[in-house]
Amino acid sequence: MTSLAPDLAGNPPDGPVVPGGPAAAAEPLESVETAELLGRAPRERRRPALSPSRANDFMQCPLLFRFRVVDRLPEPPSSAAARGTLVHSVLERLYDAPLGERTLDAAQAMLPGEWERLQEAEPRYAELFAGDAPGAEGPGTGGVQAWLDGAGDLLGTYFTLEDPNRLEPAEREMFVETQLEDGPLLRGIVDRLDVAPNGAMRVVDYKTGKSPRPQYQGSALFQMRFYGLVLWRERGEIPKMLQLVYLGDGQVLRAEPQEADLVAVEEQVRDLWSAITSAARTGQWTPRRTPLCGWCAHQAICPQFGGTPPEIPDGAVELALGISPEAVAS
Ligand code: SF4
Repeated sequence: MTSLAPDLAGNPPDGPVVPGGPAAAAEPLESVETAELLGRAPRERRRPALSPSRANDFMQCPLLFRFRVVDRLPEPPSSAAARGTLVHSVLERLYDAPLGERTLDAAQAMLPGEWERLQEAEPRYAELFAGDAPGAEGPGTGGVQAWLDGAGDLLGTYFTLEDPNRLEPAEREMFVETQLEDGPLLRGIVDRLDVAPNGAMRVVDYKTGKSPRPQYQGSALFQMRFYGLVLWRERGEIPKMLQLVYLGDGQVLRAEPQEADLVAVEEQVRDLWSAITSAARTGQWTPRRTPLCGWCAHQAICPQFGGTPPEIPDGAVELALGISPEAVAS
């Protein structure tokens, strides 16, 4: 079985962070789900599937995966995750403007309006700055304005890395999925896909945190290789380039995937799915305590912290994963 251990030490691509670890700001927690809320993906009931974010959840802690995927327990929104979603949204819509008009000023001017739109799509975001709305005047308005200014700084960093007036993406916020034979449905959302005149594909993902240390880059690239695998299977061609753009420190991580890399990530995903289905059948969602627990919203119901997980609602495992738990002998 492919070892999953190296990933445990790293940051999930869309997850929380370790102080001084691979990233320094959280990315959106529920990228696929948030995109669905924003109308970017089909809303109909879909088959159980695995996204890179949830795969990373299981690698980090099987019990966390259960809480998020099976129990679907709510988690309080974080300002860092919301800012990541906001910046992603602006970078997506910036490319609606004609060439020549995709300026930093234009991007930063989009922030208040996009923030309003995100709050309408995801009402939990409004809780972050309750009583402190963008544009409000008077005491207490500094929090949200400073937060928006931080988002503006991230956009400023973006413009030091790429000139959007020299790019015409083939796809933005592209929903992708592929069915592995005898395995899970893989799905996710690619931030941007560039296609060169010769057909070469470049997969681009924006991160609002800092770039990972070298020892954690393999974990960071898991998400991108996951997308590379999906595109390879769906389009019959391996992407020429996988590119992670870190707006937190202005670094760009690039990889040219080879067939062996994508075969290896498919094997890793199959092993992971085998472990997930085993946990679903047996009910053994083993908690795994790591420094990342400091960012877990479920410590109060985690055995590692003296808590007791709730009973899994009837039918929740089948609904989430398409797997029937084994009957427990009484
Ligand atoms: S607090 Fe518990 S459930 Fe959360 S990540 Fe840590 S071990 Fe897993």
